[in-house]
Amino acid sequence: VTNKDNCHNWTHVFERIGARITGPRCDILEMLDKAERPLSAHQIYSELHARNPKVGLATVYRTLSLLTEAEIVERLEFGDGRARYELAEHVTQEEHHHHLVCERCFRVVKYSEFPQEERDLVRKVAGSLEAKFGFTVERHQMHFYGLCPECRQRA
Ligand SMILES: [Zn+2]
Ligand SMILES: [Zn+2]
Repeated sequence: VTNKDNCHNWTHVFERIGARITGPRCDILEMLDKAERPLSAHQIYSELHARNPKVGLATVYRTLSLLTEAEIVERLEFGDGRARYELAEHVTQEEHHHHLVCERCFRVVKYSEFPQEERDLVRKVAGSLEAKFGFTVERHQMHFYGLCPECRQRA
């Protein structure tokens, strides 16, 4: 059953983008907020639908596309033909993170405990790009692709 309490946290978000507040919309934001990794529409649908059979896949897709267009949600493509979704950084209270993607099982690991080398590298690269192209770099996404420990063992 859709949890109306979930809407407390998200009312201001829907008001800001001028979208109607509905139970499933709040549930989707709540689910993305709690997820340890980016979720596909199907993953969201199967959890929501189990709780409330009235929620269809079309509702999930429509909500995700509304939230993506409003830049509340970020749509990510990792190469398995299934888009994943996560809350945009300005919406979560979480730290900036990068992704590790297994190209065999498409497990996605999200981490924000960066090795110092990674922090230094990102800062340095952004600085060089700004100097070279005259851009101001405001944000970036970083995905590292490879094999997860389980898939490495099986390979
Ligand atoms: Zn970063
Ligand atoms: Zn794997």
